Amino acid sequence: MKQWYMVIDVATCQDCNSCLMACKDEHVDNVWPGYSAAQPRHGHRWIDVVRHERGQYPRIDVCFRPTPCQHCENAPCIKAGDGAISRRQDGLVAIDAEKARGNKDLEASCPYGAIFWNGQENVAQKCSMCAHLLDNADWLPGVPRCVHNCPTGSLKVFSLEPADMEKMVEAEGLSVLKPELGTKPHVFYKNLYMFEKTFISAGVLVDGDCFEGAIVSLKSDGLTKATESTNCFGDFKFDGLANGEYAVEIDADGKTTSETVIIKNESLNMGFIKL
Ligand code: SF4
Ligand code: SF4
Repeated sequence: MKQWYMVIDVATCQDCNSCLMACKDEHVDNVWPGYSAAQPRHGHRWIDVVRHERGQYPRIDVCFRPTPCQHCENAPCIKAGDGAISRRQDGLVAIDAEKARGNKDLEASCPYGAIFWNGQENVAQKCSMCAHLLDNADWLPGVPRCVHNCPTGSLKVFSLEPADMEKMVEAEGLSVLKPELGTKPHVFYKNLYMFEKTFISAGVLVDGDCFEGAIVSLKSDGLTKATESTNCFGDFKFDGLANGEYAVEIDADGKTTSETVIIKNESLNMGFIKL
């Protein structure tokens, strides 16, 4: 049977929070009977745009990761819910507001921090994937409000057979949050390496000037992992790196040098390398 999946591109999200605003517009003070209780005006972030910075000035980058409920296949919240949380046949994980009432422990059951406590209503709440809209043929956009409102197209949803989703994961290099938990999320990310991996970057100066076109090789265990050419500012950047020891070898029109760097959980700006 077809399942709902969300795909989020970390590289194109600009932190505008239009997704969060659309979610609030749809759910604050609005009860969707059979789907969700009203979201309170403050405190809940059913889709939380998480910020991550890498590198050191001036060679830094910042990326953003919209994070809703992951609609897990093996959801810890369902186990904790004692019948109050269930997984629909189309893959969406839903909280029954009536059955969940009074159970504050549900908030801590989600390893992604996606469940919020509503003290006014005395109920745990989370992203429903706007199931009330997906189930409504009259809702012509046919997608959740946050997806519809994203101006950069960073959020997308698909209704696919699991085998077809696997093909998309393979073809587009998608990944999930905390795969080691075995929760099997239905929210996939593109370019998640910007959150989870590191980069090495530097500028090459020859006789005091930025040098464009220097050949820079990144080696590990004696093998060349990647090769780059410096840009018009003399800069190079190797991204998506795992922890480890690397040799950075530079050849600027016959002038050469090599430096060894160790990467441990943090990106590295090597500054200027002078030849
Ligand atoms: Fe449940 Fe959290 Fe998974 Fe959503 S992300 S299905 S709330 S465990
Ligand atoms: Fe909010 Fe709907 Fe987006 Fe979930 S899918 S974060 S409920 S707007």
